[in-house]
Amino acid sequence: MIRFEQVTKCYPDGTTAVDDLSFEVTAGELVTLVGPSGCGKTTTMKMVNRLIEPTSGRIFLDGQDIAAADPVELRRRIGYVIQQVGLFPHKTVLENTATVPHLLGWKRSTARARAAELLDLVGLDPRTYGDRYPDQLSGGQRQRVGVARALAADPPVLLMDEPFGAVDPVVRDHLQSEFLKLQAAVRKTVLFVTHDIEEAVRLGDRIAVYGQGRIEQFDAPAAVLGAP
Ligand code: ADP
Ligand code: ADP
Repeated sequence: MIRFEQVTKCYPDGTTAVDDLSFEVTAGELVTLVGPSGCGKTTTMKMVNRLIEPTSGRIFLDGQDIAAADPVELRRRIGYVIQQVGLFPHKTVLENTATVPHLLGWKRSTARARAAELLDLVGLDPRTYGDRYPDQLSGGQRQRVGVARALAADPPVLLMDEPFGAVDPVVRDHLQSEFLKLQAAVRKTVLFVTHDIEEAVRLGDRIAVYGQGRIEQFDAPAAVLGAP
Protein backbone atom coordinates (compact mmCIF):
# COMPACT_ATOMS: atom_id res chain seq x y z
CA MET A 1 0.00 0.00 0.00
CA ILE A 2 2.81 2.42 0.98
CA ARG A 3 6.31 1.66 -0.25
CA PHE A 4 9.50 3.65 0.28
CA GLU A 5 12.39 2.86 -2.05
CA GLN A 6 15.76 4.23 -0.99
CA VAL A 7 14.32 7.54 0.11
CA THR A 8 16.69 10.26 1.30
CA LYS A 9 15.76 13.75 2.44
CA CYS A 10 18.39 16.45 2.87
CA TYR A 11 17.13 19.86 3.92
CA PRO A 12 18.66 22.91 2.24
CA ASP A 13 20.77 23.62 5.35
CA GLY A 14 22.51 20.28 4.83
CA THR A 15 20.66 18.26 7.49
CA THR A 16 20.08 14.69 6.33
CA ALA A 17 16.77 13.94 8.05
CA VAL A 18 16.10 10.60 6.36
CA ASP A 19 18.84 8.46 4.91
CA ASP A 20 18.23 5.75 2.28
CA LEU A 21 14.96 4.55 3.77
CA SER A 22 13.20 1.50 2.30
CA PHE A 23 10.13 -0.12 3.81
CA GLU A 24 6.66 -1.30 2.95
CA VAL A 25 3.34 -1.02 4.77
CA THR A 26 0.51 -3.31 3.71
CA ALA A 27 -3.13 -2.27 3.35
CA GLY A 28 -4.99 -2.09 6.65
CA GLU A 29 -1.81 -2.19 8.69
CA LEU A 30 -1.07 0.23 11.53
CA VAL A 31 2.64 0.98 11.72
CA THR A 32 4.02 3.10 14.52
CA LEU A 33 7.18 5.12 13.89
CA VAL A 34 9.02 5.48 17.16
CA GLY A 35 12.26 7.14 18.15
CA PRO A 36 13.69 10.23 19.84
CA SER A 37 12.96 13.76 18.65
CA GLY A 38 14.81 14.74 15.49
CA CYS A 39 15.37 11.25 14.07
CA GLY A 40 13.26 11.78 10.93
CA LYS A 41 9.78 10.49 11.79
CA THR A 42 7.88 13.63 10.84
CA THR A 43 9.93 14.06 7.69
CA THR A 44 9.06 10.49 6.66
CA MET A 45 5.39 11.16 7.19
CA LYS A 46 5.29 14.50 5.40
CA MET A 47 6.82 12.97 2.29
CA VAL A 48 3.84 10.61 1.96
CA ASN A 49 1.38 13.45 1.34
CA ARG A 50 3.99 15.58 -0.42
CA LEU A 51 4.21 18.32 2.16
CA ILE A 52 7.93 17.58 1.72
CA GLU A 53 9.60 16.23 -1.44
CA PRO A 54 12.34 13.61 -1.13
CA THR A 55 15.81 14.53 -2.32
CA SER A 56 16.13 11.09 -3.89
CA GLY A 57 14.31 7.79 -3.98
CA ARG A 58 10.71 6.96 -4.72
CA ILE A 59 7.50 6.55 -2.74
CA PHE A 60 4.59 4.48 -3.99
CA LEU A 61 0.99 4.58 -2.87
CA ASP A 62 -1.09 1.68 -4.11
CA GLY A 63 1.58 0.98 -6.73
CA GLN A 64 1.56 4.55 -8.03
CA ASP A 65 4.67 6.75 -7.77
CA ILE A 66 3.39 9.72 -5.78
CA ALA A 67 5.81 12.06 -7.56
CA ALA A 68 3.44 11.73 -10.51
CA ALA A 69 0.29 12.30 -8.46
CA ASP A 70 -1.56 15.59 -8.19
CA PRO A 71 -0.93 16.73 -4.58
CA VAL A 72 -4.53 17.85 -4.08
CA GLU A 73 -5.90 14.55 -5.35
CA LEU A 74 -3.27 12.71 -3.28
CA ARG A 75 -4.34 14.44 -0.06
CA ARG A 76 -7.91 13.40 -0.63
CA ARG A 77 -6.71 9.83 -0.25
CA ILE A 78 -4.73 10.61 2.89
CA GLY A 79 -6.13 11.79 6.21
CA TYR A 80 -3.69 13.78 8.35
CA VAL A 81 -3.83 14.37 12.10
CA ILE A 82 -1.20 16.36 13.99
CA GLN A 83 -0.46 16.99 17.65
CA GLN A 84 -2.45 20.21 17.87
CA VAL A 85 -5.15 19.89 15.26
CA GLY A 86 -6.09 23.23 13.75
CA LEU A 87 -9.84 23.58 13.85
CA PHE A 88 -11.64 26.57 12.38
CA PRO A 89 -12.38 28.64 15.51
CA HIS A 90 -15.54 30.22 14.09
CA LYS A 91 -17.08 26.98 12.95
CA THR A 92 -18.89 24.51 15.14
CA VAL A 93 -17.61 20.98 15.74
CA LEU A 94 -20.13 19.64 13.23
CA GLU A 95 -19.19 22.25 10.60
CA ASN A 96 -15.48 21.58 11.16
CA THR A 97 -16.05 17.87 10.58
CA ALA A 98 -18.26 18.46 7.52
CA THR A 99 -15.72 20.77 5.82
CA VAL A 100 -14.01 18.11 3.74
CA PRO A 101 -17.16 16.38 2.42
CA HIS A 102 -18.46 19.87 1.68
CA LEU A 103 -15.32 20.72 -0.30
CA LEU A 104 -15.70 17.45 -2.18
CA GLY A 105 -19.05 18.75 -3.36
CA TRP A 106 -21.33 16.66 -1.21
CA LYS A 107 -24.78 18.07 -0.54
CA ARG A 108 -24.87 20.07 2.69
CA SER A 109 -27.32 17.68 4.36
CA THR A 110 -25.30 14.60 3.32
CA ALA A 111 -22.07 16.20 4.54
CA ARG A 112 -23.62 17.05 7.90
CA ALA A 113 -25.10 13.57 8.32
CA ARG A 114 -21.70 12.07 7.56
CA ALA A 115 -20.06 14.45 10.04
CA ALA A 116 -22.48 13.41 12.78
CA GLU A 117 -21.73 9.75 12.06
CA LEU A 118 -17.98 10.41 12.30
CA LEU A 119 -18.28 12.30 15.57
CA ASP A 120 -20.16 9.33 16.99
CA LEU A 121 -17.39 7.06 15.74
CA VAL A 122 -14.73 9.00 17.67
CA GLY A 123 -16.84 9.07 20.82
CA LEU A 124 -18.26 12.58 20.66
CA ASP A 125 -22.05 12.58 20.73
CA PRO A 126 -22.99 15.01 17.95
CA ARG A 127 -26.13 16.06 19.86
CA THR A 128 -24.00 17.20 22.78
CA TYR A 129 -20.90 18.48 21.01
CA GLY A 130 -21.95 19.18 17.42
CA ASP A 131 -22.94 22.80 18.02
CA ARG A 132 -20.01 23.69 20.26
CA TYR A 133 -17.06 25.77 19.11
CA PRO A 134 -13.47 24.48 19.37
CA ASP A 135 -12.66 26.70 22.38
CA GLN A 136 -15.48 24.98 24.27
CA LEU A 137 -13.73 21.61 24.01
CA SER A 138 -10.96 19.98 26.02
CA GLY A 139 -7.67 19.15 24.34
CA GLY A 140 -8.63 15.50 24.03
CA GLN A 141 -11.98 16.38 22.50
CA ARG A 142 -10.31 18.62 19.94
CA GLN A 143 -8.03 15.75 18.96
CA ARG A 144 -11.10 13.55 18.49
CA VAL A 145 -12.58 16.13 16.14
CA GLY A 146 -9.27 16.11 14.29
CA VAL A 147 -9.51 12.34 13.84
CA ALA A 148 -13.15 12.60 12.72
CA ARG A 149 -12.26 15.29 10.20
CA ALA A 150 -9.35 13.27 8.85
CA LEU A 151 -11.73 10.35 8.24
CA ALA A 152 -14.38 12.51 6.57
CA ALA A 153 -13.51 11.74 2.97
CA ASP A 154 -13.03 8.08 3.87
CA PRO A 155 -9.36 8.01 2.84
CA PRO A 156 -7.64 4.61 2.74
CA VAL A 157 -4.55 6.08 4.42
CA LEU A 158 -4.17 7.95 7.71
CA LEU A 159 -1.05 9.82 8.77
CA MET A 160 -0.98 10.59 12.48
CA ASP A 161 1.83 12.68 13.95
CA GLU A 162 1.80 12.44 17.76
CA PRO A 163 -2.00 12.92 17.70
CA PHE A 164 -2.31 12.15 21.42
CA GLY A 165 0.99 13.73 22.43
CA ALA A 166 -0.38 16.89 24.02
CA VAL A 167 -3.11 15.47 26.26
CA ASP A 168 -2.77 14.26 29.84
CA PRO A 169 -1.96 10.56 30.46
CA VAL A 170 -5.48 9.50 31.47
CA VAL A 171 -7.11 11.05 28.41
CA ARG A 172 -4.32 9.71 26.28
CA ASP A 173 -4.92 6.18 27.51
CA HIS A 174 -8.59 6.59 26.68
CA LEU A 175 -7.91 8.01 23.21
CA GLN A 176 -5.56 5.12 22.48
CA SER A 177 -8.08 2.44 23.38
CA GLU A 178 -10.83 4.21 21.42
CA PHE A 179 -8.53 4.56 18.46
CA LEU A 180 -7.80 0.83 18.51
CA LYS A 181 -11.53 0.11 18.41
CA LEU A 182 -11.99 2.62 15.63
CA GLN A 183 -9.15 1.11 13.62
CA ALA A 184 -10.62 -2.38 14.08
CA ALA A 185 -13.82 -1.02 12.52
CA VAL A 186 -12.40 1.07 9.67
CA ARG A 187 -9.07 -0.71 8.93
CA LYS A 188 -7.13 2.18 7.46
CA THR A 189 -3.51 1.94 6.44
CA VAL A 190 -1.94 4.00 9.22
CA LEU A 191 1.45 5.57 9.84
CA PHE A 192 1.51 6.74 13.44
CA VAL A 193 4.41 8.81 14.77
CA THR A 194 5.20 8.76 18.47
CA HIS A 195 8.25 9.13 20.71
CA ASP A 196 6.57 6.95 23.34
CA ILE A 197 7.57 3.28 23.06
CA GLU A 198 4.57 2.18 25.16
CA GLU A 199 2.22 3.88 22.75
CA ALA A 200 4.07 2.38 19.80
CA VAL A 201 3.76 -1.12 21.26
CA ARG A 202 0.14 -0.75 22.22
CA LEU A 203 -1.08 0.55 18.88
CA GLY A 204 1.24 -0.87 16.26
CA ASP A 205 0.71 -4.01 14.22
CA ARG A 206 4.36 -3.40 13.47
CA ILE A 207 6.83 -0.89 14.82
CA ALA A 208 9.47 1.02 12.89
CA VAL A 209 12.19 1.85 15.39
CA TYR A 210 14.12 4.92 14.24
CA GLY A 211 17.72 5.79 14.84
CA GLN A 212 19.20 8.91 13.25
CA GLY A 213 17.52 9.11 9.83
CA ARG A 214 17.17 5.35 9.58
CA ILE A 215 14.86 2.53 10.59
CA GLU A 216 16.90 0.22 12.79
CA GLN A 217 14.23 -2.37 13.37
CA PHE A 218 10.88 -3.00 11.72
CA ASP A 219 8.92 -5.75 13.37
CA ALA A 220 5.90 -6.83 15.43
CA PRO A 221 5.74 -5.41 18.99
CA ALA A 222 6.66 -8.73 20.63
CA ALA A 223 9.79 -9.02 18.52
CA VAL A 224 10.78 -5.42 19.24
CA LEU A 225 10.30 -5.89 22.98
CA GLY A 226 12.11 -9.23 22.92
CA ALA A 227 15.17 -7.73 21.26
CA PRO A 228 18.29 -7.54 23.43
P1 ADP B 1 8.74 16.85 16.34
O1 ADP B 1 9.65 16.12 17.26
O2 ADP B 1 7.30 16.60 16.61
O3 ADP B 1 9.09 16.70 14.89
P2 ADP B 1 10.17 19.33 16.30
O4 ADP B 1 10.18 20.40 17.33
O5 ADP B 1 11.37 18.51 16.06
O6 ADP B 1 8.92 18.41 16.66
O7 ADP B 1 9.73 19.94 14.89
C1 ADP B 1 8.56 20.68 14.75
C2 ADP B 1 8.46 21.15 13.31
O8 ADP B 1 9.54 22.02 13.02
C3 ADP B 1 8.54 20.01 12.32
O9 ADP B 1 7.44 20.14 11.45
C4 ADP B 1 9.84 20.16 11.60
O10 ADP B 1 9.68 19.96 10.20
C5 ADP B 1 10.24 21.59 11.86
N1 ADP B 1 11.67 21.63 12.17
C6 ADP B 1 12.33 20.82 13.03
N2 ADP B 1 13.64 21.11 13.04
C7 ADP B 1 13.80 22.13 12.17
C8 ADP B 1 14.93 22.88 11.73
N3 ADP B 1 16.17 22.62 12.16
N4 ADP B 1 14.73 23.86 10.86
C9 ADP B 1 13.50 24.11 10.39
N5 ADP B 1 12.41 23.45 10.75
C10 ADP B 1 12.55 22.47 11.62
P1 ADP C 1 11.22 13.76 14.26
O1 ADP C 1 9.87 13.83 13.67
O2 ADP C 1 11.71 12.37 14.45
O3 ADP C 1 11.34 14.58 15.51
P2 ADP C 1 12.01 15.40 12.02
O4 ADP C 1 11.67 14.63 10.81
O5 ADP C 1 11.10 16.51 12.43
O6 ADP C 1 12.25 14.38 13.23
O7 ADP C 1 13.46 16.01 11.86
C1 ADP C 1 14.58 15.22 11.44
C2 ADP C 1 15.80 16.11 11.33
O8 ADP C 1 15.62 17.04 10.31
C3 ADP C 1 16.10 16.92 12.60
O9 ADP C 1 17.49 17.04 12.70
C4 ADP C 1 15.47 18.27 12.31
O10 ADP C 1 16.11 19.31 13.02
C5 ADP C 1 15.69 18.38 10.80
N1 ADP C 1 14.65 19.17 10.12
C6 ADP C 1 13.32 18.95 10.14
N2 ADP C 1 12.67 19.85 9.39
C7 ADP C 1 13.64 20.65 8.89
C8 ADP C 1 13.63 21.77 8.01
N3 ADP C 1 12.50 22.24 7.50
N4 ADP C 1 14.81 22.34 7.70
C9 ADP C 1 15.97 21.88 8.19
N5 ADP C 1 16.05 20.81 9.01
C10 ADP C 1 14.90 20.20 9.35
